[in-house]
Amino acid sequence: MRMLLILAAVAQVTVIPRAVGPAKDYPIRAVPLTSVRITDSFWAPKRETNRTVTIPHIIQQNEVTGRIDNFLKAAKKKPGPYQGQRYNDTDVYKIIEAASWSLAGHPDPALDKKVDELVAIVGAAQEPDGYLYTPRSVDPANPAPGAGPERWSWLHTSHELYDQGHMIEAAVAHYSATGKRSFLDIAIKSADLMVKVFGRSARRDVPGHEEIELALVKLHRVTGQQKYLDLAKFFLDERGQKHSVEHPQFEQGSRFFMYNDLAYRQDHAPVASQTAAVGHAVRASYLYAAMTDIATLVESTLIPVIHSLFADVTEKKMYVTGGLGADERTEAFGAEYALPNRAYAETCASIGGILWYHRMFLQSASAKHYGALERTLYNGYLSGVSLSGDRFFYQNPLVSDGRQERSAYFDVACCPANLSRLMAELPGLIYAQDKETLYINLFIGSEADVALGGVPARIRQETNYPWDGKVTIHVDPQRPVRAGLRIRMPDWTSNPTASALYRFTDTTDRAPVVMVNGSRLTGGDPTGGAAEAGAYREWRKGDVVTVDIPMPIRRVLANDKVAEDAGKAAIQRGPILYALEAVDNGGSLKDLKLPLDTPLTSTFRPDLLGGVDVITGKVGDRTVTAIPYYAWNNRGKGEMAVWIPY
Ligand SMILES: [Zn+2]
Repeated sequence: MRMLLILAAVAQVTVIPRAVGPAKDYPIRAVPLTSVRITDSFWAPKRETNRTVTIPHIIQQNEVTGRIDNFLKAAKKKPGPYQGQRYNDTDVYKIIEAASWSLAGHPDPALDKKVDELVAIVGAAQEPDGYLYTPRSVDPANPAPGAGPERWSWLHTSHELYDQGHMIEAAVAHYSATGKRSFLDIAIKSADLMVKVFGRSARRDVPGHEEIELALVKLHRVTGQQKYLDLAKFFLDERGQKHSVEHPQFEQGSRFFMYNDLAYRQDHAPVASQTAAVGHAVRASYLYAAMTDIATLVESTLIPVIHSLFADVTEKKMYVTGGLGADERTEAFGAEYALPNRAYAETCASIGGILWYHRMFLQSASAKHYGALERTLYNGYLSGVSLSGDRFFYQNPLVSDGRQERSAYFDVACCPANLSRLMAELPGLIYAQDKETLYINLFIGSEADVALGGVPARIRQETNYPWDGKVTIHVDPQRPVRAGLRIRMPDWTSNPTASALYRFTDTTDRAPVVMVNGSRLTGGDPTGGAAEAGAYREWRKGDVVTVDIPMPIRRVLANDKVAEDAGKAAIQRGPILYALEAVDNGGSLKDLKLPLDTPLTSTFRPDLLGGVDVITGKVGDRTVTAIPYYAWNNRGKGEMAVWIPY
């Protein structure tokens, strides 16, 4: 039996030939969510809450706030003016996307019927030539504020193309999940209009809020049509060309004032020279995801640029929770190491980050991109929703004076449905494959139908992650096959740094142990930053891989340049960042200190917060208690802190 430890960061360049679809795509493909079923006790209940509570709640909120009526008004099936913000259409699209992906994993005739009804309403609002933007169509003479006087006239504020992008993504999801063409045909009609309107020898401009670019790549992939990929690339190529100086400029004090700043919307320079992350963090993360698509599918000169952006974000601008965006006023990235704990860290920026890091992995095969993804998923993303599934954070601060609280919905409601669609898409983030190798990138109890070295295989993961680092993986190919299996070792198993931005105070000498059928994989150094363990061997039905990752409680320090975290430490166990809440700590966090040498212990509390590991320590006669950050603010308002003075 030949065994080989596969080193980290070995890029795979195999392109899998496909009968249909684009000629060129990512060298590694995600195992599609339709082939994966989550069965664990951490994510499966949250996904069931998403299906039974969050999705119906958001549909209902979209109904009572007039978001669905806007489509009926545009279709002349209801009287009255357009209601709400000019990007409210997307809240309907995103929940259709969430519902569609949810249907893929869990048939639900009532939800399926509801989605069909919503798609019909969207279709009725589409104008005969394909134009679909209810903030204008309801009353073209009086478009919603910021929408601009004519079609496509104020792209820097209108969110017209942002709306089209979410519509296309929802349509691709609906088609992929249900096989129905109803929504896809609407999206194609709209996209074909944009192909006619925009281009090098037609209308040249760029959207003020990115999203259309990555959506057009998805439409290209599902239709095989080159023109959509060309249009996505066009919108990237037009950045930094100062088109929007012709657009209206807004006076100080205007609600649109920030749109005057080209860097705010990543239009300050050509994408090839955007090597540092700037501006509104959601826009930026969607742009970087699209740049990763275009770098991989079309324009390889962008590859160093996306890697430079990733390093800039993860080494200088990312919260320890994975949150992105430091500036409360502009929702934007701050300067290097400017990470105030009141934060912005919009839920959508965490989601944008996850979508981007996933693409970075599929492009590079490097596990470090999944380190950023996992940090975000278990912390700055998951904090966006209450355990009940019907309350949401827009901002995800790392400290609270007790005033912050999740809301049932928002006037600007981008986050809730965005969070819901990612929860529904989660199975698609666990596994990836290329011709030779299967990649296990997240430890989530699940069953997956994959191709292992081209042979159909069933993978079954059993684990109590994130509370426990023991994972059993059953590998069952239909027939014996030589292939690689690469298992991501989380970056928090490394010594002493998880990144240049955050480091652990201690070192651990207990390395992860990976065994195949009881034989230990040897060689390599999973603690030295080598981020994957794996075996290239002949796999047979009944093979079992076991992974045992120690999960000590570790203190995290921020880079000395992060002023606000000086003299403070965070607590991490496994992928979970911890927070102190006043309710567990005598009603107040004032004057509370936790010396670095205070012994800490973890205890699983099935009765608390849906079942969590709680960390406690004794400081004098006081017991200090920490809970997972994602679960804060589920017991009323109160002070909270991630970074604790030591
Ligand atoms: Zn948002």
